[in-house]
Amino acid sequence: MVHLARVKTDKEVAPSNRQFETLPAPDENDFYTNVYGSHFAADHLNHNEMPEREMPRQIAARMIKDELSLDGNPKLNLASFVTTYMEEEIEQIMTDSFSKNFIDYEEYPHSAEIQNRCINMIARLFNADTSDENAMGTSTIGSSEAIMLGTLAMKKRWQNKRKAEGKDFSRPNIIMNSAVQVCWEKAARYFDIEEKYVYCTETRFVIDPQQAVDLVDENTIGICAILGTTYTGEYEDIKAINDLLVERDIDCPIHVDAASGGFVAPFIQPDLKWDFRLEKVVSINVSGHKYGLVYPGVGWVVWRSPEYLPKELVFNINYLGADQASFTLNFSKGAAHVIGQYYQLIRLGKNGYRSIMTNLTRIGDYMSSELEKMGMIILSQTKGKGLPLVAFRLPPSSERVFDEFAVAHQLRERGWIVPAYTMAPHSEKLQLMRVVIREDFSMTRCDSLLQDFKLALQTLESMDQAMIAKYQVHMKSHRAQPKHQHTHTHYKDEKHSLQGKTGKTHGVC
Ligand SMILES: *Cc1c(COP(=O)(O)O)cnc(C)c1O
Repeated sequence: MVHLARVKTDKEVAPSNRQFETLPAPDENDFYTNVYGSHFAADHLNHNEMPEREMPRQIAARMIKDELSLDGNPKLNLASFVTTYMEEEIEQIMTDSFSKNFIDYEEYPHSAEIQNRCINMIARLFNADTSDENAMGTSTIGSSEAIMLGTLAMKKRWQNKRKAEGKDFSRPNIIMNSAVQVCWEKAARYFDIEEKYVYCTETRFVIDPQQAVDLVDENTIGICAILGTTYTGEYEDIKAINDLLVERDIDCPIHVDAASGGFVAPFIQPDLKWDFRLEKVVSINVSGHKYGLVYPGVGWVVWRSPEYLPKELVFNINYLGADQASFTLNFSKGAAHVIGQYYQLIRLGKNGYRSIMTNLTRIGDYMSSELEKMGMIILSQTKGKGLPLVAFRLPPSSERVFDEFAVAHQLRERGWIVPAYTMAPHSEKLQLMRVVIREDFSMTRCDSLLQDFKLALQTLESMDQAMIAKYQVHMKSHRAQPKHQHTHTHYKDEKHSLQGKTGKTHGVC
């Protein structure tokens, strides 16, 4: 039983006596009613104006909880790489750390120390040469911030070099695959760097190393190479780019976007050379909240050596008499996620990560082979050659009247979130679907999905052309569902990004 005091609504509080208003004695019903018996449950709340008066905490909490229950179930969201499971022990510690501001090094020196331990462990996992010094790096909110920092460092270093040579430094450019994650486009636009793309083709969805290196000119600040593309999970051939740069004696750094692959490849393919073992790789980012196995809000960027992180970008913050270097875009942030990362690193150890990533790879391989048996065309890799995900499309057919988007919609009706999307620019005629295999996606869950996938196909196959047409109209109007668009009308026709242009890539992250 929740005891509630009667709170007057805005309408009931007359303007003249508002100032001196005291709460009337609650009538019996108001005092003993539960959340749904209170007037709040039947009121239309104004969502755009902060209410004048308080509401009881149980009611506020229940209303928010009820509204959020209409969101998708994160565990059935196979569109995302982002962690949806952590152990209770660390959940409790993270909750206890909510009130710690990570940047207050002086007050929370141990949180700062824990970050430094994580950086050292991650840099060593990526084979940085850290003989005795601490590794160079920082925690971030995610790979996006990490990539912004990596890009800024490459830009600054290039500018310093050009200045020293007395050359123009006003037109920096960066080379990347058209299948980059949107944060690379942001980084380039925000920091005034020209984007030079190596485009995908109908059969190649990763960067072509030769083309990438051919694009390098005196204004190139660096090449971005992806360890696990968002579209198909394939690893780009970073060694080939490195070797071409070395062979041609070109002074151009590589930044590896290992947002998803950074915590997979070292355990599944330890001999794959993609990291600091390659001399041209100067910086690497990884999302702690993807295969780093932490809830959303943490990423990492590490540099090969101080030479690649120009001094003018780093600020020293004094704590307990010692300086802590700080290189971030924001100032305050919670300490909980850095602590969560540390827990995973020491709790699981290399063996723990290896076991998990091996299981995910196996489940992915099983799913690939089952989908293949159903006639699907698999576009992702198996046996650990890429990320543990399955990207696939329907077999070409002149008779079939539905596409991948219709299948995604059918699955959604069964609770599963499996995105359909179009490939990166220049290969966007290709439509595909993707299932990301995450830690909490066990074989049992995989079997349920396969079962529902079969049912979805059967349902669609039983529909005739007219029904499908009607269905697709229904699908379009329900695709983004919310009543409120997330975009302000002024910005809704955004055409400048690669993703914006193809227009159909949504819900993939
Ligand atoms: C997810 C992802 C990003 C963005 O990372 P966040 O941690 O979500 O900011 C960048 N690049 C790639 C390849 C990704 O998969």
